[in-house]
Amino acid sequence: MPDRNQTVRALPSRKPCLTAVLRMAGLRPTRQRVALAELLFGGPHRHVSAEQLHGEANEASVNVSLATIYNTLHQFHEAGLLREVAVDASRSYFDTDTSDHHHFYVEDEQRMIDIPATAVEFKTLPEVPHGMVMSHVDVVIRIRKQQG
Ligand SMILES: [Zn+2]
Repeated sequence: MPDRNQTVRALPSRKPCLTAVLRMAGLRPTRQRVALAELLFGGPHRHVSAEQLHGEANEASVNVSLATIYNTLHQFHEAGLLREVAVDASRSYFDTDTSDHHHFYVEDEQRMIDIPATAVEFKTLPEVPHGMVMSHVDVVIRIRKQQG
């Protein structure tokens, strides 16, 4: 049985850490950015949409507009803190795990499930146009519950 007090004492506050992460990513650690970073990176890796994060911010009494959420997510993405996974033209998820991997998209539940990079193999990939380099390949496999 772990000593509860010990565990609590051993947990460092993530705030200074996230402030440093934002600074290192070239982003000024404003109160809003730190608050949203806490919501995004405060737990295990996950996939969130802007709408989901907006709902979580409201619940946590972080007063931000959906437009600010979009801007912040895109800034975090550009800074390399998040990976964007576009499911279709109108829906994107932001992944706190920026390492190479693929996804299942559960259509009827609108959620993403990670697929390890090694689980997908490409037999042939097209030649990249002249002067270009491949940045990464990501696969989204759309799935839904089997009927009957
Ligand atoms: Zn993922």
